[in-house]
Amino acid sequence: MATEAMKLLLDGGNPLVGRLMTYDSMSMKFQEFKVNRDHDCLICGTAPQLTQLLPDYETYADTGQLSIP
Ligand SMILES: [Zn+2]
Repeated sequence: MATEAMKLLLDGGNPLVGRLMTYDSMSMKFQEFKVNRDHDCLICGTAPQLTQLLPDYETYADTGQLSIP
């Protein structure tokens, strides 16, 4: 995840957008899967409703309730 953050911050490399990579350290094998976009996602869906940081993340984390201003 840190490597992905660095790639996005530096606008370089080939970030794992639309892909999921797994790593099995016991067998030293990597696998990559295509991940389809969720069009209903509140953040990256076709009608995003979360466009800024949550103002009260602790309430959200405690209750699981999300109120969108
Ligand atoms: Zn999303």
